[in-house]
Amino acid sequence: MFKIHNFSAGPCILPPEVLKEASEAVKGWGNNGLSLIEMSHRSKPFVAVMEEARVITKELLGLPDRLGFLTTAYNLIPEGGSAAYTDTGTWAAKAIKEARHLGDIEVVGSSKDSGYNAIPHTPSVDSKHSYFHYTTNNTIFGTQYKHIPTEAGVPLVADMSSDIMSKKFDSTPFKLIYAGAQKNMGPAGTVMYAIDKEALGKTGRNIPSYLDLGVHLSKDSMFNTPPVFSVFTTLLTLRWLKNLGGIDVIEARNNAKAELIYGEIDRNELFTGYAETNSRSTMNATFQLIDDKHKEKFNAAWAEAGVSGINGHRSIGGYRASMYNALPLESVKVLVDVMKEFERTI
Ligand SMILES: *Cc1c(COP(=O)(O)O)cnc(C)c1O
Repeated sequence: MFKIHNFSAGPCILPPEVLKEASEAVKGWGNNGLSLIEMSHRSKPFVAVMEEARVITKELLGLPDRLGFLTTAYNLIPEGGSAAYTDTGTWAAKAIKEARHLGDIEVVGSSKDSGYNAIPHTPSVDSKHSYFHYTTNNTIFGTQYKHIPTEAGVPLVADMSSDIMSKKFDSTPFKLIYAGAQKNMGPAGTVMYAIDKEALGKTGRNIPSYLDLGVHLSKDSMFNTPPVFSVFTTLLTLRWLKNLGGIDVIEARNNAKAELIYGEIDRNELFTGYAETNSRSTMNATFQLIDDKHKEKFNAAWAEAGVSGINGHRSIGGYRASMYNALPLESVKVLVDVMKEFERTI
């Protein structure tokens, strides 16, 4: 395929048939009608890929799990210290669970009792806390902070995985921001950390190298071999966003998409929104059929129109229209038209 004899030590030469298949999968994977890198990792074909990879890997070694939540606490909570968290959904709860390994975690707000359908009020928190942690956008339940909760009164730490790059914000109140790329920045495999350098190195802890953000910083994020395909594809996505006119332009588009879908959810008598109106996410619109007996027919209608991926997260069911940056307004129009037509013909 290539004329170069690639002796590179790594990233290294790959079999030509692997390259061919990978590039084809990027353009369109099998007969799934989607690119491999824009497909849900919960989809059947991808789950099968993971499973097969796991089986083969088990002949060799196993590897660790989810690190971002732990990394935050490791780097910012001193020995014997504490932090304040809000519990606004599955990811927030996981962040709390991990942080509890390392400090005294006070949960200062929660919407758990109402099924995580709203963003709780942010109180002023005790100044003993190293930071106030919140999840800007709750991907599963479709809620989103509409302002930066500086009223907490201590430095902020945020998991911005699912609305990073979707709207403008002022980063000055933050000690640390982190985000997995796979929701709005690129494909899976890459995590972004934005750190206030002054905040690092103050815990008095012996932090394992891989979890030490100072180590990653000093190595320009090349402490280990990065997932190059993922990083490269993320770069292409960032270039695309910049050429489009940047975050101002995408924010206006995202608002237009959200207005369109929520307008229809509110207008259409067959559907109801999941999140409270003033907590609604511009990224993930969660909604349900008022009467579940229409489910099969509605599912057939949107599938027929070429809509994909709107089944709600398995923990809440219903529907979830995720409208990340790359989703055009036209796609939302198609879904809204399906909902309109469905109401007319039911
Ligand atoms: C998806 C998501 C995560 C988890 O990302 P992983 O890469 O699966 O660890 C964390 N926080 C939020 C808000 C998310 O949407």
